[in-house]
Amino acid sequence: MKKEFCCESMKYHIEYKCDIHKDPFDCPDKIINYSKKQNNYGIIIHDGGSSFIEIEFCPWCGKKLENK
Ligand SMILES: [Zn+2]
Ligand SMILES: [Zn+2]
Repeated sequence: MKKEFCCESMKYHIEYKCDIHKDPFDCPDKIINYSKKQNNYGIIIHDGGSSFIEIEFCPWCGKKLENK
């Protein structure tokens, strides 16, 4: 099943893949993390680790994110 996104900005950031950084947490351009395992969205904190702040609403369009 195709994943639905609330807006183009979210789609862009979720699907964003960097050619340089294999790990999204290493890439400063990658700001949104979607965890398939936990089915949640988060803003990546680039502190050298793999932490992110879970978000409930899209920062671009303000829609509630589906955390099923
Ligand atoms: Zn959105
Ligand atoms: Zn990168």
